[in-house]
Amino acid sequence: MTEQTLILIKPDGLKKSLTGNILSKLSELKFEIIGTKIVRVSESLARKHYKDLLDKPFFPDLLKYIRGEFHTRRVMALVYSGEDCIKSVRKLAGATNPEEADPVSIRGAYGRVTTYGVFENVIHCSSCPEDAKREIQLWFEPDELVDELYPVQTVAVQKPQKRVWA
Ligand code: UDP
Ligand code: MG
Repeated sequence: MTEQTLILIKPDGLKKSLTGNILSKLSELKFEIIGTKIVRVSESLARKHYKDLLDKPFFPDLLKYIRGEFHTRRVMALVYSGEDCIKSVRKLAGATNPEEADPVSIRGAYGRVTTYGVFENVIHCSSCPEDAKREIQLWFEPDELVDELYPVQTVAVQKPQKRVWA
């Protein structure tokens, strides 16, 4: 079944210049990239993304990690689309704990466990179709994707403003 998955190259991946290596590994799966951007992660976005982990002891450090407080304040967000891509990307990413991940997986090759107890595992990927839909809609707006994935509605926006070069 054709499905989509949200991938984040986390701040440690960007800081360590692993973007190219990670995208090369992902490209071997032959899926299509249908959206991408560099994001400065707000506290609100981080909390929504990891809402199911709120009760975990590592949650405060996880927020700092994904917001880039330990590395650089940005992540690269991508949406990939293809046949069974959720499972395939999870396999290539490897286990959550980099010490337990297959050494040739992305997390096994590039991740580490820190002394403050967070798994710095360089990549996020959705774990099931429901999460993928929720995460894609959280990180991307409809017009930022080149494919029409989900129903949209048009809403009136009052007094739109945007920043331009001064
Ligand atoms: N995490 C951690 N310690 C743990 C479990 C998770 O630091 O014991 C971090 C890790 O960065 C992980 C993220 O929290 O990628 C989200 O956890 P989840 O269980 O959803 O793992 P994932 O889906 O990323 O494999
Ligand atoms: Mg998860």
